Amino acid sequence: MKLRNILGKILGTDKLQFEEVHIEEEVIDEIINIAKESYPNEFVALLEGRMEEETLQISGLIFLPSDVSNEGAVMQVFMQPLTVNSVGSVHSHPGYSASPSDADLDFFASKGVFHMIIAEPYNRESIRAYDSWGNVIGFKTI
Ligand SMILES: [Zn+2]
Repeated sequence: MKLRNILGKILGTDKLQFEEVHIEEEVIDEIINIAKESYPNEFVALLEGRMEEETLQISGLIFLPSDVSNEGAVMQVFMQPLTVNSVGSVHSHPGYSASPSDADLDFFASKGVFHMIIAEPYNRESIRAYDSWGNVIGFKTI
């Protein structure tokens, strides 16, 4: 058994093994718009999705009661249980680095299987996607 699979069992994410990630065009546009509107604050949302064969399909954003904060949006979500259809998260970074912080990595490891960070200038090219372990992974826009 691969380490990834063992960790998946522990984290309860073993049912979400995916080969590819497909994200609906509208979701990407929404992420870009909200990141711009929220600036200079961070925004954070959960990603709504489901498995279709080997593909993880992301179809929408799930907003939490307070989705904008000056002091680390991710930490607010940390305490929230993920809803049934939530497969991960997206949040914005003021600044040009879309690399996960230590707090982000803790969060990625504990909740969901697919996470996105959008940095300035908030366009398609400034979005990075990560797996639970903080590895950069690809996605397709559909
Ligand atoms: Zn972050």
